[in-house]
Amino acid sequence: MSYETAANLLKRRGVSVESIAEIVYKLQKPYNPHLQLSECEESVIAVLRKREVQYTLYTGIALDELAERRLLPQPLQAIMEADESLYGVDETLALGITNVYGMIGLTSFGYLDKEKVGIIRTLNNKKSEIHVFLDDLVAGLAAAASARIAHAGQNAHEYAADSDQGEPAG
Ligand code: MG
Repeated sequence: MSYETAANLLKRRGVSVESIAEIVYKLQKPYNPHLQLSECEESVIAVLRKREVQYTLYTGIALDELAERRLLPQPLQAIMEADESLYGVDETLALGITNVYGMIGLTSFGYLDKEKVGIIRTLNNKKSEIHVFLDDLVAGLAAAASARIAHAGQNAHEYAADSDQGEPAG
């Protein structure tokens, strides 16, 4: 198990590292005018290297794939097929990724969950496939990679202050 395994799994489900980096760029650019897309990509890769992040991805994506193959027991199969908004376990699982770099990513996660930026919206619109967990996992990855950049840079204070006020960080 490695970064490559996690990245390949995402790729198989239609999500590239670059597409996640593009969301990170959108989130962090207002706080860091010199930010490069390549730094965002490096940050996503660093998040994907963490074992607990890899385990969370394997778990959520396995449930999506089992639901697509109609292999889950009821009532879970029906809940996954309907992508019921009250289910909430998808968000709870993904928050485990966001929290890898502390609570600073929480506001970004909430913003992405609501606005469905970039590849997250694409996944949401693909009604022929089941991405109950993947859309939240991608939001969790982007929020964590964004928090990681904020921690490393001089904008951490400003970003954290905005997070305290509950403003969207993007
Ligand atoms: Mg979901």
